[in-house]
Amino acid sequence: MATVQAPTRPQIQLHEGLFVNEPLVDFSKEENARKMRAAVEKVRAQLGREYDLVIGGKRVKTTDKIKSINPAKPSQVVGLHQKAGKDHVEPAMKAALQAFESWSRTSVEERTSLLVRVGDLLRERKFEFCAWLVFEVSKNWAEADGDIAETIDFCEYYSREALRLSKTELPVQMPGERDTLRYIPLGVGAVIPPWNFPSAIMAGMTLASIVSGNTVILKPSSDSPTIAAKFVELLEEAGMPGGVVNFCPGAGASFGNAVVAHPKTRYVAFTGSREVGLDINKSAAEHRPGQLWIKRTILEMGGKDAIIVDADADLEAAVEGVAVSAFGFQGQKCSACSRAIIDERIYGKFLEKLKTRVEKITVGDPAENSYMGAVINEGSMKSILEYIEIGKKDGRVITGGSPAKNAGEGYYIQPTVIADIPPKSRLEQEEVFGPVLAVIKSKNYDHALEIANDTEFGLTGAVYTKSKDKIKRAIQEFHVGNLYINRKCTGATVGAHPFGGFNMSGTDSKSGGPDYLYLFTQGKAIGEKII
Ligand code: NAD
Repeated sequence: MATVQAPTRPQIQLHEGLFVNEPLVDFSKEENARKMRAAVEKVRAQLGREYDLVIGGKRVKTTDKIKSINPAKPSQVVGLHQKAGKDHVEPAMKAALQAFESWSRTSVEERTSLLVRVGDLLRERKFEFCAWLVFEVSKNWAEADGDIAETIDFCEYYSREALRLSKTELPVQMPGERDTLRYIPLGVGAVIPPWNFPSAIMAGMTLASIVSGNTVILKPSSDSPTIAAKFVELLEEAGMPGGVVNFCPGAGASFGNAVVAHPKTRYVAFTGSREVGLDINKSAAEHRPGQLWIKRTILEMGGKDAIIVDADADLEAAVEGVAVSAFGFQGQKCSACSRAIIDERIYGKFLEKLKTRVEKITVGDPAENSYMGAVINEGSMKSILEYIEIGKKDGRVITGGSPAKNAGEGYYIQPTVIADIPPKSRLEQEEVFGPVLAVIKSKNYDHALEIANDTEFGLTGAVYTKSKDKIKRAIQEFHVGNLYINRKCTGATVGAHPFGGFNMSGTDSKSGGPDYLYLFTQGKAIGEKII
């Protein structure tokens, strides 16, 4: 892991070098494993602490509370949080509007310095932040590290992007004029993240907002408010002025809904399910009294991602790619492979190898670094098990199919592979968001592409084939926002794989890419006559 040099070098130098992704931690090295075990124990000693709302830089208590629990040990409280209700929308909006007055006029260099400092602090406390993810959402060590590394990448990448945008090239110059185009902030944004990348997505949407000069009302998911509280503490430690990010955990249906509806909310940055995303889109489209603008919505939603394995594919690589894409973080990634579409000529062989591979997956407490931890909550476990029952009727269970009772008291489910799932059946069409893989037999490559494209989603997809022609066809015909060839369909990397999907997967807003900050700004063109 890279050591932190930042305090001894001028911060702006960081922006002048090329962007480099934060290296991932190699936990097979005893030194790193030891650090992680120590961080787990340090965080364990802090579980159950109480966290306040932060509005305008001030701590606020509420009567209602949110209990964030450890999915691997539901009797263990990770953090006790205040619960913002409808009454907290107005104070949060007032604080964010007030902070916008000065923050929107703060120089881009100062705003980017804040992000750089946050990135530096995160590097210093990487293991500790990973440990919070282990307890709050049941990520294993490597999954937690991926989430935190991505958060650090967003600090660095969006800083560079903000600086790039501030130096926009001159447009065509009219004779006798000085013509310029600049990107100015929008106003107050509602940032509404999911629980599954509780650091990277929550922080990414927040950092993109504030580096662009906006101020934010941040409503984290009720399943992962503690990691968001820790992030807000980092922002404060790094020098963020009060009111720039207002931290308000609360129920989606009351607080979240009311923030989206508020006439002074200028935009909504949301990542979550298709159902909630569509509701937000509808509510944001309504023009309410006192509202001066058309609200902008940046909506990233669900997926039903497929990996196509062609008859000529490297079978070992394909089996490995499917297994890690389907079962990494218990299949709870929007990019997870939930459909494997396998050519009939290799179908039997593929299933045999996949079964052997999946049965090697360990399920248990992620604090001890089992490969698969628990699913996020009881409701989710129930819904996943219902989908497994649907799959049992439509197909054939190859492995798994039940709760993983031996793993412990948590919400554990066995990694489950169900073969012979027919196209258009529910398990083939609907997002399960758990460790359940549907395997579908295709007659040929045409048929495989047809099945892959035949859902309402379009987030990620992968193809395993050695054929150049088939690769070319996938690039043209596989309709997803993030396509991968001969590799897994999870693990998008900031800068290399700008992330966002088509169709009901969202507005294709490409986080971690060069277009992203445009969504958090508005272009102002100035034509000045030279006198
Ligand atoms: P969710 O839609 O249940 O919740 C997302 C957020 O919306 C939460 O903070 C929730 O409290 C809030 N919310 C709920 N109802 C609301 C309302 N009426 N108004 C305002 N806010 C409301 O999703 P989740 O269970 O947290 O996350 C899982 C989903 O997220 C999956 O569908 C997954 O595919 C998707 N996801 C998509 C991406 C992507 O980039 N496309 C990335 C990660 C997760």
